[in-house]
Amino acid sequence: MTDKHRTFPLPLSSVVDKAQKKQTVFSPVATPQTATQNAARNAALGGTHPGVRVGAAPGTAVRPGSAPTAMPSRSHTYAMERAQAAPAAAPRQNPLVSDAVRRAMVARVARQGVKDPVVLGALEAVPRHLFMDEALASQAYIDASLPIGHHQTISQPYIVARMIEVMRNGGQLKRVLEIGTGCGYQAAVLSCLAQEVFSIERIKPLHELAKANLRPLRLANLRLHYGDGMLGLPQAAPFDGIILAAAGLEVPQALLEQLAIGGRLVAPVGARAQHLELVTRLGKAEWTSQTLEDCHFVPLRPGTV
Ligand code: SAH
Repeated sequence: MTDKHRTFPLPLSSVVDKAQKKQTVFSPVATPQTATQNAARNAALGGTHPGVRVGAAPGTAVRPGSAPTAMPSRSHTYAMERAQAAPAAAPRQNPLVSDAVRRAMVARVARQGVKDPVVLGALEAVPRHLFMDEALASQAYIDASLPIGHHQTISQPYIVARMIEVMRNGGQLKRVLEIGTGCGYQAAVLSCLAQEVFSIERIKPLHELAKANLRPLRLANLRLHYGDGMLGLPQAAPFDGIILAAAGLEVPQALLEQLAIGGRLVAPVGARAQHLELVTRLGKAEWTSQTLEDCHFVPLRPGTV
């Protein structure tokens, strides 16, 4: 890929139009698998396979649900400057990681029920394969979570989009906090649609990996922090949106306190059986919560390593 600048949001006609004609909802996945098995199975199937839906590895939806309505976005300039060793004599894109394959991924996410064009546009703008190990890059656009090392995963595109859509609720996001940066993919997507994004990771090598992955993208509105996300980021609070990319038995109190009044937090909650929970702060000491679809995430853990 050459250095180029893209304006966000991207034209979505091809994605959204197609997506809204046919609303396919995928059925629940019965067999839990690990993300590593996802990777192995899809490698055996021959890499990218838009029709393939693999099992409930961490960072996946178990049962996609409905989605709220969408609103227009503000404009955002998205600089994509990943330096790649593309030989001058071979300018053609690798078809397994091409823009067309990414568009197909977005169309699939739309068919699964994500309707917000701003979220779909952000998903289309961020090259997911740049956040993965080269050996897995050809699987970057399948609908699965995949391993990123340290027993963690990059979340499934559908669940990334769904959580952001629920948090955004068609509104403008000013300040957003993500718990669990991992490889940095969701943070990059968030930075396309929020004014300011903060993301915390507790595993040092993953924090460093995310920094390295994100540096070439030069997302000036994104700040990465190494620390225990269960404590939040009081120095940057309040947040009008908070997303957890790891599941706890409950939503940490510190995060509830750091939500702005009117703000929305989306988190996977549970141990083996997990669901997405939407918490809205109604007042100084008043929160309301709503249970959404089932999901499967890696565990939220205290402290740093
Ligand atoms: N957001 C990532 C998903 C990463 S997986 C993506 O874009 O795909 C979830 C991450 O949450 C893991 O990297 C894990 O180390 C991290 N995590 C778990 N508990 C945490 C905590 N208390 N604070 C910060 N990060 C945490």
